[in-house]
Amino acid sequence: MKITSVKGFHDVLPDESARWQWIEQQARDLFARYAFAEIRLPIVERTELFSRSIGETTDIVEKEMYTFADRDGASLTLRPEGTASLVRAYVEHALHQHAAVSKLFYLGPMFRRERPQKGRLRQFAQIGVEAIGREDAAIDAEVLLLLHDLLAALRVRGAQIELNSLGCAACRPAYRAALLAYAEAHRAVLCENCGRRVERNPLRLLDCKDRACRESTADAPVTLEYLCVPCRTHFDTVRALLAREDVRPRLNPRMVRGLDYYCRTAFEVVAEGLGAQNAVGGGGRYDGLIKELGGPDSPGIGFALGVERLVLAVAEPDAARSSPPEVFVAPMGSAAEAEAMHLTHRWRGDGMRVEIASGGRSLKSQMRLADKVGSPYVLILGEDELAACALTVRDMVAKQDFPRAIGLSSSTAALREALAQLPRSTVEPRA
Ligand code: AMP
Repeated sequence: MKITSVKGFHDVLPDESARWQWIEQQARDLFARYAFAEIRLPIVERTELFSRSIGETTDIVEKEMYTFADRDGASLTLRPEGTASLVRAYVEHALHQHAAVSKLFYLGPMFRRERPQKGRLRQFAQIGVEAIGREDAAIDAEVLLLLHDLLAALRVRGAQIELNSLGCAACRPAYRAALLAYAEAHRAVLCENCGRRVERNPLRLLDCKDRACRESTADAPVTLEYLCVPCRTHFDTVRALLAREDVRPRLNPRMVRGLDYYCRTAFEVVAEGLGAQNAVGGGGRYDGLIKELGGPDSPGIGFALGVERLVLAVAEPDAARSSPPEVFVAPMGSAAEAEAMHLTHRWRGDGMRVEIASGGRSLKSQMRLADKVGSPYVLILGEDELAACALTVRDMVAKQDFPRAIGLSSSTAALREALAQLPRSTVEPRA
C-alpha cells in the first residue's frame, strides 16, 4: 500500500518552492535593510513554555498543541508559534547583556492541530520579527513600517493592516470589569465557548468565531474606549508616525489577537484571495512576556506572517519563477557523455546554470527535455563534434543550429561570450 502524507501536513513541490524562496528572499533583503538579524530556533520546546506564555485559555493551548511525553517523561511540544521560543532564547542567552535592543527575525515551521482547510494546515511556516528592549511608540512604528514595506515588496493582493490598542496593566482592569458586566448581562446569547471561558478570559469574547455570538455582542465595550492616558498617547503617536510615511492602518477595535501576552499595539494583516482564512499575519506588543519567562522586565513587539497564505496572496507569480538552465548539454554516446560531464562540471564550477542529459537518449528526446526545462541553448556533443573538438549550438528560441561553433576548451567566459555573439534570426522569441 502507498504511504501518503499526514492530514494537514503538505509537501511543497518544486514549482511552488521557487515562490517560497522568492518570498523568503524579499523578507531577508528587507530585514537586513531594517537591521534585523536572524535567529534559528528549535522546533521542540518544553510544554510549559507555551502554556505560560500563550495562555491556558487560548485555543492553541487548550486544544491545538502537539504535545508528547519524551522517553524520560518530560512533556514536550512542537512549537505552535515563534515568539515564545524566541523570548526563551533571549532570556536563556541573556541577549539583553549584549545589546540594549535586540532586533531578530526567524523563519520556519509551526504546528497546530486545527481543522485543515484552504490556507489552514497543521504544519505551516511563519516568517516573524521581534524587537525587544524598547517601549517607545517609534519602535512600534518601525515594526509596522517594516510590515508595510514587506507586504508592498511581495505585492500581496488587497493587503490591509488592521490596528488596535489593547491597553496595559493600568487600564485593563477597568475595561475587564466593564466587559465582564456586559457579558453577565448578555450571558443568554453567548455561544457555549464564550460562556465557559468569559470569566477567565473575557477578551476572547470579541474575536469569537461564532457568527451569532459575534452579532449579538456587536455593542460590547472595546479597549479603545478605556485606554489610560499613556496608552492613548502611545497609540496616537504610533498612528501619527505612520501617517507621516503615508501608512494608514484601518482601526479594528474588536481585534484582540488569539494569544494572551499582547498589550497596547496589536495588529493583523488581511488579504484577498484566501477565502475564510483571510489573515496573512498578525502581531503586537508583549511587554510583560519576557519577565514572565524569567528574564528582565524588557518590553517587546513583533509580528509573524504565514508563508502558505502569502504564497496564495502574492500577486506576482512570474517574479517567483525558478531560473532555467543557461545551457543544456546533449551528449550522444558514452565517449561524448564523459567529455560532456567534464565540461559541465567546469562550467558549473564557474557559476553557470547547466543541465546535462544522458548520452543514451536520442537527440530528439534530449531536445524535448531541453525544451521542457526552458533552456535557451542546447550544446550538442556527438561523434562529429568530438572529432572536431567543438560543440554544435542549437538556439532554441530562433530554432537555428550552429555546427561546431564553440571549442571544447573554451573557458566559461568564452562560452558565454560566444553564445551572446550568435546571430539571431528574425524569429520572435517564444513566450
Ligand atoms: P497568529 O499568530 O495565530 O495570528 O498567526 C500568524 C499567521 O500565521 C496567520 O495570520 C497565518 O497567516 C499563519 N497561520 C496561523 N495558523 C495557521 C495555520 N493553521 N495554517 C496556515 N497558516 C497559519
